[in-house]
Parts: sequence; C-alpha cells; structure tokens
Amino acid sequence: MQYRKLVEGGDSLSVLGYGCMRFPTKNARVDKEKAKEQMLYAFNEGVNYYDTAYPYHGGKSEVVLGEFIKENNLRDKVYIADKLPSFIVNKPEQIKTYFETQLKRLDTDYIDYYLMHMLDSLKSWEKLKEFGILDFIDEKKKSGQIRHIGFSFHGREEEFIKILEDYDWEFCQIQFNYLDEHNQAGVVGLKRAYELGIGVVIMEPLRGGNLAAKAPDKAKERFSKYKEQRSPAYWALRWLWNHEEISVVLSGMNVDEHIKENITVAKLTSPNSMSDEEIKTINDVKEIYRSLMKVPCTGCNYCMPCPFGVDIPGIFSDYNNKYFFGPRLARMQYIIRETGLFGTTKCAANLCTQCGKCEKHCPQNIKIREELKLAHKELDNTFMRVGMSIVGRIMGLRRADRK
Ligand code: SF4
Ligand code: SF4
Repeated sequence: MQYRKLVEGGDSLSVLGYGCMRFPTKNARVDKEKAKEQMLYAFNEGVNYYDTAYPYHGGKSEVVLGEFIKENNLRDKVYIADKLPSFIVNKPEQIKTYFETQLKRLDTDYIDYYLMHMLDSLKSWEKLKEFGILDFIDEKKKSGQIRHIGFSFHGREEEFIKILEDYDWEFCQIQFNYLDEHNQAGVVGLKRAYELGIGVVIMEPLRGGNLAAKAPDKAKERFSKYKEQRSPAYWALRWLWNHEEISVVLSGMNVDEHIKENITVAKLTSPNSMSDEEIKTINDVKEIYRSLMKVPCTGCNYCMPCPFGVDIPGIFSDYNNKYFFGPRLARMQYIIRETGLFGTTKCAANLCTQCGKCEKHCPQNIKIREELKLAHKELDNTFMRVGMSIVGRIMGLRRADRK
C-alpha cells in the first residue's frame, strides 16, 4: 500500500480509503459478516482510512464499522472519518446530539477526521456558524474528541472556493474523476485546496460505477488498444492517484474482486507516474463518455427517497445505459420498474407528481423532473410493455398494485 498525508505532519493514510456507504446487503439489510470480512481483508492489505456518515445505510454503516474495529481491536490502527449531517441540522443543540450519537454508534471516544457533510454553498456553512459550529469544533478539538476538521462538498466551484477560504480547514472531500474535472469543485478547486495546504479526499472516483463495469463498449475498446490489459476501474483510479494534490481516494467497496483490484492499483500508482500514452488513452475515453452520457447522475441517492416512490437514480441509470449499451436492455429494465414485474415495486417516472422535493438535494444540479419526463419518453415502449406484462401474468410474476 502507498500512504500519503492529508494534514501536514499528520497520519500516514492509505491512498485507498474504504467507503462505508455501499456495504454488501442481504434481504435489504447490511450483510454484516461479509462487510466485516471485506474490511478486514482491506486492512490486512494496508487500508487504514474508513469513511462513514450519519445517514449511510440508515445509520447502520457507523454501527458496523464500530463493531468491526472493536472486534478486531483496531482502534489505534485505523482512522475513522465521519460527518456531521449538516443538511438536517436545524437547531444549534442538534450539532452536539448528532455527534454524541455518532460516537455511540461507532463505540469510540473520538473521531479522527470529522467533516461537515455535503456543504453546497457558503450559505450552508454560514448556517452552521450561526448555530455555533466554530465553538463546537474548538471545544471538541481541545478535548481530543475530534482530531482533524474538514468538509465534504457538492456544489459549484466558486462556492467551494469561498468555503475553502472562509475557515482554517485541515482537509476537504470532493467529487472528482476524469469526467468531473470541470464539474463541482473541479480541478480549479483541487488546485486551490492544494495551494492552501488543505488535504483532499476524493469521493465518487468511478462516478457511481459509470467509469467501471458499466463502461460503454466504445470506452472499453479504446482501453483495450493500450499495450497492457486493464479494467476501466483500474484506469479511473490510476488517473486519480497520478495527481499529487490528492491524498485519499474513497471507494465504496462490496465485491471481493473489486477490492483486490483497487488495492493493486493503489500499490502501483505514484504521483505523476502516468506516461503520455496513458494520458492520451484517458483523454480519448473522456471524449467517448461525453458523447454518450445523457444525465450526469452519480447514483449518490441524496435525492431519495421520493415520497411518491420514483427510483430517480435507477431511472437515470437506465437512461444512461440506453446510450452506453443500446436501448433493449435499458427499456426492459425500465418496463420492469413501470409494471412491477418480477416482484419489484413500481418505481418508474410516471409516478412523479412534479413536487420538486428531490431537486433541492441533487449535488449535480440535475433538473430531475425534466429529465425524468425525457427518460420516460425514451424508455417506455407500449409494445414491449404489453408483451412483458402478458408474459409476466402468464408466469404469475406481477406484483399486486400498492394500495
Ligand atoms: S419531483 Fe417527482 S421524483 Fe422528485 S420527489 Fe417529487 S415526485 Fe419524486
Ligand atoms: S439525481 Fe442527483 S441526487 Fe439523485 S442520485 Fe442522481 S446525482 Fe444523486
């Protein structure tokens, strides 16, 4: 494993951080045993940074991470990153309450890296300041309950820089990957943080899988022309670790092979180690993606749940898949959402009432209502819907309508 520092003179952190937002699940619950086994494997391979947050897995992410650390007696060997759910803080006293709940869930006395979760503008940071966050941070740092302070960000570049320059942050967390160089904080934000000596953690390195297994054939074809055969995920991670400004890249891991591969790339990539040929390969692939993607959805789920049952990220994934892989499978998948076939709950875009609640939470600023309408128009197909419904009825696969 390679290690970099997030804070000058601070801890040596594995360049691969374990994202605890996508643990494996069984019967719609975290598969604790599997999650702990995978985290232990990563730890034994040198991973020492584990990132969780208050809402991940409905609060269970913090609990499972805490259990894993306790059961393996690792508290002084791993670094916990956790986040204040700033978007649901409406009263000053809630800051303390959430923090205490987090310590309890994690079963620990302190958090190594504590972030203000999902700031999206200077206004969102100002709100926390009005609620007394500065005194809270001072107090917790003095008592040792928080070791380092940072924020995670989804918003526009100029707002990122305003927040960055407004406080003596030690680190920040941004979405960055080879398709997002000019989206959100972007490369400008990354470089500004570096200039200010503020460490950077990267999230969404694979854009919710769109840069990995879901990579379109055209992108895979371009990668395959390189002399050495590597997966799309390998390329995406290598590109990130090639940046000296980046300290830790988070990956929400739940498949054994992916964990192994991520660790392999993390061991092999040093800053500025990519050749001109490798850079050209990535640049060509960027162009291919730009030409294919319809909606820049990362699958972060911040817009969910929709009160009317619309599976927003799922529908956008179908919509993008249509352009990555062709219409057939994407339409079949969408019609399953629409009809409730195969025991699924209906969750297609035709359930949308246009209430607009989701759009306030989208870090990508997607016009969700508008895009859902377009997705429905392109993915709904009467002929296929009727055909699949008949087959479903014959096979008894249709789920009863929800009351
Ligand atoms: S606008 Fe549509 S998709 Fe968004 S929350 Fe409202 S009903 Fe759900
Ligand atoms: S629509 Fe926006 S908030 Fe919802 S999953 Fe996609 S990127 Fe995230």
